[in-house]
Amino acid sequence: MSGSYQGTCFCGAVGIEVSGAPDAMGYCHCRSCRSWSGGPVNAFTLWPPEAVKVTKGAEHVATYHKTDMSHRQFCRLCGGHLMAVHPSLKMIDVFAATVPNLAFAPQVHVNYAETVLPMRDGLPKLKDFPAEFGGSGELVAE
Ligand SMILES: [Zn+2]
Ligand SMILES: [Zn+2]
Repeated sequence: MSGSYQGTCFCGAVGIEVSGAPDAMGYCHCRSCRSWSGGPVNAFTLWPPEAVKVTKGAEHVATYHKTDMSHRQFCRLCGGHLMAVHPSLKMIDVFAATVPNLAFAPQVHVNYAETVLPMRDGLPKLKDFPAEFGGSGELVAE
């Protein structure tokens, strides 16, 4: 899979484009994603920074970071969520909902120990993060 995929914030003032193929796709069940998004899980697609472009409305993009791990970006006009930059991983999570034309093909669940929405889909469930991302890499049962 590769190509370019367009998306916008909720109001459309901010446009984004991702190119190529994501390095990983899956679901994050952590409390931070839940609290910030207002949804029970975050469907993520991870890209190298050079694959992600803001095509319009860059002046409306605001960033909030509670920790250095995740710089969460949103449109300051509508509050719509766009992506979370992970500087330590050198990856950007463009929320699956932000790029609706990208076929979402989840491979993994992360931070499943914190889940409030168990998903019995047969995919691997990591207790926290993969070892290469600084986590335990431990798998837990569905
Ligand atoms: Zn907006
Ligand atoms: Zn999360």
